[in-house]
Amino acid sequence: MNTAPSLPMKDRFDLPDGIRYLDGNSLGPMPRGTQERVEEVMRDEWARNLIKAWNDNHWMDLPSRVGARVARLIGAPEGSVTMGDTLSIKLFQALSAGLKLRPGRRVILTDSGNFPSDLYVAQGLIRQLDRDHELRIVAPEEVAGALDEDVAVAMITQVDYRTGRLHDMEEITGAAHAAGAVMLWDLAHSAGAVPVDLAGSNCEFAVGCTYKYLNGGPGAPAFIYARDEIAEVMEPALAGWMGHSEPFAFVRDYDPAPGIERMRVGTPPVLQLAALEQALTVWEGVEMSAIREASIRLSELFIAEVEARCPDLTLASPRDPDRRGSQVSFAFEHGYPAMQALIDRGVIGDFRAPDIMRFGFTPLYLDEEDIRAAAAILGEILGTRAWDDPKYHRRGRVT
Ligand SMILES: *Cc1c(COP(=O)(O)O)cnc(C)c1O
Repeated sequence: MNTAPSLPMKDRFDLPDGIRYLDGNSLGPMPRGTQERVEEVMRDEWARNLIKAWNDNHWMDLPSRVGARVARLIGAPEGSVTMGDTLSIKLFQALSAGLKLRPGRRVILTDSGNFPSDLYVAQGLIRQLDRDHELRIVAPEEVAGALDEDVAVAMITQVDYRTGRLHDMEEITGAAHAAGAVMLWDLAHSAGAVPVDLAGSNCEFAVGCTYKYLNGGPGAPAFIYARDEIAEVMEPALAGWMGHSEPFAFVRDYDPAPGIERMRVGTPPVLQLAALEQALTVWEGVEMSAIREASIRLSELFIAEVEARCPDLTLASPRDPDRRGSQVSFAFEHGYPAMQALIDRGVIGDFRAPDIMRFGFTPLYLDEEDIRAAAAILGEILGTRAWDDPKYHRRGRVT
């Protein structure tokens, strides 16, 4: 019989003993088998086959092969997703292609909860185009209402990296289309965290990274999706040879590859793609609905436990689980040293300026016992002011 694997599946991950890892929303842990797979590719493919490996080991197909695995997790049809570069670059590609589809319009609409890199990329592109485009930033609740006939592209990140607030994909995509705008979703904190139905949403573009909930490893390649008929007409601003219809014809002029393949840019990162391909096997048989159900159960438990023990913390995430992604954030004036004290005791979350303590819920490798223990340790740190130690106040380069 074909039964779904039960959650969690801690044995599929290489997690250090004694660690409660609530930071999979920032950098997922290493799935077992990933190291062996990368070593195998280095030893048996790169070292042994040298340049022949591009053909013999099908390295050139990795972006579409891995893209097909990602597609299944975000409700995208086969052949509509490709991989490469980083999210910031994939966002640039989708945004520039989106603007090109609405030459008469000048507004890129986004919200104040978006991640800075997304805002910077839009600002940089606007300066580069030098055609009076405007980045309009509204409050998250105002996005649907702000979609008017000036908007060329609605560039929205579904889950707020600070608070975990979750946008309704159907509602906003519908409003964007009613206004005649192109819809671009950033799924950085959605892919592998919440069920996503890209095909159903009918959005034009989606992008995301794979080192967060998809556990692809530091610097893992990003993904980009374009709806079928858009993919056939979109014009890549980064017209690299790997997005050419015939890269090895070495002709002088650019001719886009069919469909999403034109969003490839240069040589694929083979080792990172091999790691990611292996990492994505942990999702085999896993239903996103089961992940969602467990994520809500764990996050509700965490909120209840923390609020019972830590009166100084204020919930910074929506209280309604249907309006949250798979993370919970608390605001606390001394959030930075408190998080350092927590990490020192084996509970890993992270801190986002100015005062947010952030915790990710990843049912693949977290259970209720982890959540209760994490909340108890947090309560102890707050109760004893253990965070108020000079060693917890020193800041590293990465928070
Ligand atoms: C994590 C994240 C990024 C990071 O982009 P990279 O190019 O992968 O460094 C960008 N945007 C959002 C919304 C994110 O959550």
